[in-house]
Amino acid sequence: MKVQKTVAAAGGALVLSDLYRSYDMQLQANLDYTSGKKKAFSPPPGGSMHEAGRAFDLDLSRIKTPGLAAFWALASAEGISPIIAKPDTGISEAWHFDCRGSHDRIYTYYRAGKGTNFTQAYTAMAASAIVSTGQRVDALGEDPRTGYLQSGLIRLGQEIGSMDGAIGPKSRKALAALGIAPETPLDAQVAAMTQRLQQEFPREYFVSGVPMVETAQPAHLSV
Ligand SMILES: [Zn+2]
Repeated sequence: MKVQKTVAAAGGALVLSDLYRSYDMQLQANLDYTSGKKKAFSPPPGGSMHEAGRAFDLDLSRIKTPGLAAFWALASAEGISPIIAKPDTGISEAWHFDCRGSHDRIYTYYRAGKGTNFTQAYTAMAASAIVSTGQRVDALGEDPRTGYLQSGLIRLGQEIGSMDGAIGPKSRKALAALGIAPETPLDAQVAAMTQRLQQEFPREYFVSGVPMVETAQPAHLSV
């Protein structure tokens, strides 16, 4: 593939290590970090894009810095973003890449101070991505559906204050503004929200025209 060839031409090899992590896997990764068993930073569950299937790690010992630089040059066009400032295998987290997609809007929203319940905009973005796959995020309450609705509202340009999983007057007003009746059953609201998101972000869904679970990466993406 093109990316592999480009990295190889720079003298490196493209080897993926971590991709999706479940809640329990993320918990273990965080424990390994906090206990000192592993040096690689890993946040507690609810804060990693790996839990949404929207992140991957590269084996730095294989790709090497010139290969990493070559990878960076191709990555942004595919919607892939690093989380450090420059391609240098000596920097912590140089291995980690995110596919932020529409959840980048949650990041921007929190950076602008429009939500205040997450101290890091990145954590809010990860929570949004995780809850949008139907998984529970502790910071967003018991039922992932309410966090998903709020994530959708923000991604569609509504201002609701904090994304906390509690549907209050601001969230209800924003839902109504998008033509989603807040008094209808939660599943109906979720289905309507998915349709709105699908229309706005078609690249995040493999099949258009049918409400379905959000997918992590564009179908054409291959590394
Ligand atoms: Zn990672």
